[in-house]
Amino acid sequence: MTDLFAIPVTDIKGIGDETAVQLSTMGIGSVGDLLEYVPYRYEDYRLKDLAEAEHDERVTVEGKIHSAPSLMFYGKKKSRLNVRLLSGSYLIQATFFNQPYLKKKLNLQDTITVTGKWDKNRQIITVQQYSLGQHTAKGDFEPVYSLKGSVKNQTLRKFIRSAFEDYGNDIPENLPGSLRLQYKLLNRKEALFNLHFPAAPSSLKQARRRMVYEEFLLFQLKMQALRKFEREHSNGISQNYDLNKIKEFINSLPFPLTDAQKRVVNEISADMKSPYRMNRLLQGDVGSGKTVVAAIALFSTITAGYQGALMVPTEILAEQHAESLSELLGTAGVNTALLTSSVKGKRRKLLLEKLQEGEIDVLIGTHALIQEEVNFKNLGLVITDEQHRFGVQQRRVLREKGESPDVLFMTATPIPRTLAITVFGEMDVSIIDEMPAGRKTIETYWAKQDKLERVLGFMEKELSQGRQAYVICPLIEESDKLDVQNAIDVHAQLEFYFQNRYKTGLMHGRLHSDEKDEVMKDFSRNEIQVLVSTTVVEVGVNVPNATMMVIYDAERFGLSQLHQLRGRVGRGSSQSYCILLADPKTDVGKERMRIMAETNDGFELSEKDLELRGPGDFFGKKQSGLPEFKVADMIHDYRALEVARNDAQNLIQGERFWQDPEYAELRGFLEQTGVLQGEKLD
Ligand code: ADP
Ligand code: MG
Repeated sequence: MTDLFAIPVTDIKGIGDETAVQLSTMGIGSVGDLLEYVPYRYEDYRLKDLAEAEHDERVTVEGKIHSAPSLMFYGKKKSRLNVRLLSGSYLIQATFFNQPYLKKKLNLQDTITVTGKWDKNRQIITVQQYSLGQHTAKGDFEPVYSLKGSVKNQTLRKFIRSAFEDYGNDIPENLPGSLRLQYKLLNRKEALFNLHFPAAPSSLKQARRRMVYEEFLLFQLKMQALRKFEREHSNGISQNYDLNKIKEFINSLPFPLTDAQKRVVNEISADMKSPYRMNRLLQGDVGSGKTVVAAIALFSTITAGYQGALMVPTEILAEQHAESLSELLGTAGVNTALLTSSVKGKRRKLLLEKLQEGEIDVLIGTHALIQEEVNFKNLGLVITDEQHRFGVQQRRVLREKGESPDVLFMTATPIPRTLAITVFGEMDVSIIDEMPAGRKTIETYWAKQDKLERVLGFMEKELSQGRQAYVICPLIEESDKLDVQNAIDVHAQLEFYFQNRYKTGLMHGRLHSDEKDEVMKDFSRNEIQVLVSTTVVEVGVNVPNATMMVIYDAERFGLSQLHQLRGRVGRGSSQSYCILLADPKTDVGKERMRIMAETNDGFELSEKDLELRGPGDFFGKKQSGLPEFKVADMIHDYRALEVARNDAQNLIQGERFWQDPEYAELRGFLEQTGVLQGEKLD
């Protein structure tokens, strides 16, 4: 069979060495690359009924020339040509700029097809493109390619057409006939051809459908194969935990577990018991009770004779977790310890010794935990909290550390399902989708910044009832002077406003970690009533007496981040409030404030956030580990993504996939990716 990726583009008529250089800047080196260089969008040249056209819309209409063209010159070389067209029942004007020669070509009663911007009020089309004669459906959809260098859209189309003429029949099919039949998918050649030269909307749709499925299936096969490989080669520990002790521990908790907590505890336990290494993501909204689940998992590993570790992104969080875990686990006789960079000298040495001797059962800390000379006697379980902060890379490093402990990743930022199964495709996912009973929803209001007086009045009322409040100011970078200033200014204002009545504290990323801890402790002990802070309090911090969250410039935060911030209140039994101070300029901005005020469900918000911001921005930075698809769109094609994931899972787990000739192409693909040999994915 011809390998189209081995044939240089110069084999195509019209492509010389120079053009080949231009094409190479677009990543096109071979005929195969050229054939698979798909358009990123289409111009729509279908005829439009003017009755349905919007003002300013770009439309294509056909019309009869109804008046002699009138030509007007202005400026040095500028001209305008007006002609009246009868299009259906509409008598409109078509305006051509700087094409004086057309005057002679446009004869009364001739038919012409024009495309341009429709001024609905004045009934004028400003023509961008035209063709003499009737409209033809052939060019209804003009593909638009992403271009670099000097190659033009039309030229590229010509090259692709030639490539199809010469090599179209050599485009191999990679999907097995059974799947194509099941989903009625075009073959690969037809699909690619229709993407480049769509004859009708329906053929474009079918072409997309086929390519989207293919892209998702290949991606998911890779993920599932990686998962299988890691499971089979991980030499995981089969943890023989003591079920009776675990039950006893669960019964000793101050509350019954929710059904969702029970379910994920079972999922985690099954992983720990299995000889495979656990590689599981635990998702749950703020306040859904992940910490207890973590405690149960840690307790299990201890009953099996191992040690556990919990890694969190900040020191404050480490301390809080250490506190709550020692409370939860301490009564059950578990020794917990905290390791951060502030544990120094002798104390540190002693701690590390105890750890190595197995006298410490659970170690809690920042990522210093995996980077330094920390040796466990017998590490069985590693849990990381708020893992998206650690980034994709660290996630992998951690997994490769140590003697194959089970690994559980926890996140309080609900990740939309579509993203979860792509970015975390090689992991198992558990979701706590239920809140503990009796939780009050946080009342959220959006106020313009000029309502600050009233907001402060409201805050005063809460404070007078013995409650506390957070005030958040936007911070972008910890080194960013302006924004830190912002928090400082607000702090100064509030200090003045509440003087002699309530104490205010200030917290931001530029404070030393000792200072941060000091402020945080003062706030937890209610020695500070109003805490002005940047987003450093975003994650995990737990002060149940705080019932009010005020967020300045709220439009500058993502929905998920706002939700995280809001999650700092509503942790006690009293009604809590969140006030978003914002004057968003755009419609999207206003929409986001409205969504926040209406929605308390983190998963729902994350889906909206994804819709409004797009997958690339969702995780903030570029290195989000999101795969790039040529045709598929993770949001719009999410159904196909789920279908492909199921299919991939079934294929990889089945026997037939690894033997049947029908799957030879797909196996070949997997071989090329290297996952079967345990190579890294990127
Ligand atoms: P998060 O998922 O945000 O980490 P936490 O684990 O901190 O949530 O739990 C939030 C609060 O809910 C804690 O005070 C915890 O004790 C409480 N909690 C957890 N599970 C339950 C439950 N099943 N019933 C009642 N309260 C619970
Ligand atoms: Mg938490």
